[in-house]
Amino acid sequence: MQRQRKITIEERVASLVHESIQELTAYKVFDAGEMIKLDAMESPYGFNAELQDRWLERLAATDVNRYPDPQARALKLGLREAFEIPDAVELMLGNGSDELLQLIQLVVAGAGRRVMSPVPSFAMYEIIARYTRAEFVSVSLDDNFELDAETWLDAVTNHQPACIFFSFPNNPTGNLFDVDLISETAQIAEGIVVVDEAYYRHCGQSMMSYLGEHDNMLILRTLSKSGFAGLRLGFLAGAAEWIKEFEKLRLPYNVGVLTNASVVFALENWRMIDAQNEVTLAERQRMLDELQAVDAISAYPSRANFITVRLLSMDGEAIYKKLIDHGILVKNLHGYHPVLENCLRFTIGQPDENDALLAALREILAE
Ligand code: PMP
Repeated sequence: MQRQRKITIEERVASLVHESIQELTAYKVFDAGEMIKLDAMESPYGFNAELQDRWLERLAATDVNRYPDPQARALKLGLREAFEIPDAVELMLGNGSDELLQLIQLVVAGAGRRVMSPVPSFAMYEIIARYTRAEFVSVSLDDNFELDAETWLDAVTNHQPACIFFSFPNNPTGNLFDVDLISETAQIAEGIVVVDEAYYRHCGQSMMSYLGEHDNMLILRTLSKSGFAGLRLGFLAGAAEWIKEFEKLRLPYNVGVLTNASVVFALENWRMIDAQNEVTLAERQRMLDELQAVDAISAYPSRANFITVRLLSMDGEAIYKKLIDHGILVKNLHGYHPVLENCLRFTIGQPDENDALLAALREILAE
């Protein structure tokens, strides 16, 4: 005897999946195929040939049948040295900083609480807030990507969010928010203030030294922009009292042994990474000069490893598609937020890749 009408899979999905998740679209990642890939702020460099051989030897000596060292002692020690982390600050590791952004919100935000950031900024702050059913509140940047201090501080006071995110420098606009404004935010906020320093190595400025001043401030960093996006390693730095609570939600063994061994090896050879970074910084300046010399483009100075440009009196999306026809993938920012109208974001690549982008742009604009 049939007790119940058989429901379709569509009906079951619609009735079971939380509404806040049905409304979302998954984070889009484009397949670059053979194209020059300047869309995702990866470093264009990997290990050089000599290091590659020694790295593979290290991996061959890694026991993949064993779970990772849960304390990740060697890895944390190496990070402390390379990233100048004070001894008084605790560290927690994540499978990319994305995982830590989620974990932070699971611990302090969620239903009935607010999450806040300036917008446009890194999309995951809002996406995670939405699927964890927090209310996302924001203050828009102006057309020059600046944050008005009074409007911002008023909004913090009015909303008193559980969690505030600053991308420092800001993705996708490349500029730095005012350090005093972030500090004042931490002072008046009842919630935590996460300073996301994903582009720390390209920026040369950090708020790490403010941790002692504000016990509600945390610093987030990643190795993704320094040559190791594929390894997925991020870390959170802050007071032991916070890290102790966050550790409760970290899934056991969230950083695999191959990532652990590879990053330890990379940190032992950090001089090579620094040298690559120097090339990227020089290329960023060269690209800014070249792009600012193009009449049809407004190029914004950047403290990160990308440059955001606005196409003046031209359709940014059309230029984006034409760049794909030229075999170059960049990020189309048009449509994400009104202040990003006709904006594209160019990750700094190797010099020949950057040259290819400039040549393609000049050709397209001359058509
Ligand atoms: N924060 C910011 C500001 C970013 O731009 C990114 C990546 N685009 C991330 C965090 C996430 O980096 P990952 O998960 O690779 O560490």
